[in-house]
Amino acid sequence: MTLAADLATRFEQALDTSPEALREAAQDFGHIVSAPPLAVLRPRSAAEIQALLEFAGPRGIPVSVRGGGHSMYGQGQADDGIVLDLRAMNEVGPVADGQVTVQAGALWREVLAATLPHGRTPPVLTDYLGAGVGGVLSAGGLGGGGHRHGLVADQVLELEVVTGAGEHRLCSPDRDPGLFHAVLGGLGQCAVIVAATLRLVPAPERVRRYCLYYADLTRYLADQRRLAEEQRFTYLEGQARPAGDHGRPYMIEAVAPHDGPCPPDDDALLDGLAHDSAALETEDLGYGEFAHRVDTDEEALRETGEWLYPHPWLNLLLPHDSAETVVRAVLADPAFGDLRTTGLVLLYPLLSDRLRAPFFSRPSGEVLYLLALLRTAPPGSPETVAAMLAANRAAYELARSQGAVAYPVNALPLSDADWREHYGSRWPAFAEAKRRHDPHLVLARGHGMRF
Ligand SMILES: Cc1cc2nc3c(=O)[nH]c(=O)nc-3n(C[C@H](O)[C@H](O)[C@H](O)COP(=O)(O)OP(=O)(O)OC[C@H]3O[C@@H](n4cnc5c(N)ncnc54)[C@H](O)[C@@H]3O)c2cc1C
Repeated sequence: MTLAADLATRFEQALDTSPEALREAAQDFGHIVSAPPLAVLRPRSAAEIQALLEFAGPRGIPVSVRGGGHSMYGQGQADDGIVLDLRAMNEVGPVADGQVTVQAGALWREVLAATLPHGRTPPVLTDYLGAGVGGVLSAGGLGGGGHRHGLVADQVLELEVVTGAGEHRLCSPDRDPGLFHAVLGGLGQCAVIVAATLRLVPAPERVRRYCLYYADLTRYLADQRRLAEEQRFTYLEGQARPAGDHGRPYMIEAVAPHDGPCPPDDDALLDGLAHDSAALETEDLGYGEFAHRVDTDEEALRETGEWLYPHPWLNLLLPHDSAETVVRAVLADPAFGDLRTTGLVLLYPLLSDRLRAPFFSRPSGEVLYLLALLRTAPPGSPETVAAMLAANRAAYELARSQGAVAYPVNALPLSDADWREHYGSRWPAFAEAKRRHDPHLVLARGHGMRF
């Protein structure tokens, strides 16, 4: 019996080998690399995931998980393997006792839709709510609540997983903590996340959003650090080269809750900051509206077709001490010149002691900054994409020489040596967890790690 026939007999309707399914599974948001799998499996239960891994492991068949499909460079693809498409496993359980259990194929917008009617929200949300729960938890998950609460993954109370060895397990900080910590921020190497129990916090009904403009990077970074440490706001992000900057190329974006009869105390929140107060912008909006702010960009980009263009994105985590040097060098590089007029440059602080997932790599020091260089290449221009990938590599090497690490959701292929450097002294423990939980090394090969 051929492999395809064997799979079809075992998994029946859950298996899809149609050309459309294979084509979709060979694509992602990056639209840069494309590796067709042998088949797509759409499981409806942990038992089906377990059966697949029991089958694929001993045969050495690669297995990758697809949730929201927002990888940038084939991380969720399975060359000649099987893509587990979890989108049908998207149940969001009842909200009770400040927590909710969600299946890993749910998107974050589905999670929020279930929690907001109960006045609750995950403490940290990614900017874009169309990404999948499993995909974000396996990356770590950064957002404007991060300076207070850490990673999206740090809010997980319990996980249900199927390991690469085909074991169906529950794990938490108290129950099988080694597995729990290897999975959160673990890039899908050890297990497939089936479901996660998430901590929730009260959601404000309304928020006030502040945009603070700066002409000077040194002052911008100093105020970002101050705001992160003083925790004046519930959400803190920022951009370099914001749209319509009027000669002030840095913008802190900060949000405070605006519930009850009294508005937030603007003077107290902005006291002592070095922004250009004449350029201050504020806006009051519903919390849900704020959380969904990227939806309108998505709609517009889908309409123009740009959502489906190549996205050679690069996310770096910079140590505080060299952040200014790296940001200046990268933004002055003509290879990133397109970011003057299009795309988005995020630049915001995080506090290292809030980031708890042990295998989430971060630079040394108490304060770090996310530098996200988010750009789009024109379709049908492989030479532009190649030039942008080369620029990503050069920026990564420059930043790394200054103590930075990648936030590994990038269009940036990493070599064996890069991955070892990425994990540093934690590489042996990470590799040991991989070998223990995925002994046949079949899971998540799209990241290009070798053990
Ligand atoms: C428009 C946009 C905005 C973004 N904004 C942010 C942001 O603000 N903050 C941030 O941190 N990230 C952000 N990201 C990056 C995004 O969080 C990651 O790319 C994430 O991994 C996408 O998850 P996905 O499920 O949508 O993608 P997929 O391609 O389906 O999965 C991504 C990776 O996760 C693995 N994976 C998926 N599900 C599981 C599972 N159940 N178990 C184990 N492994 C799994 C896949 O195998 C793959 O390697 C953004 C991405 C986009 C496109």
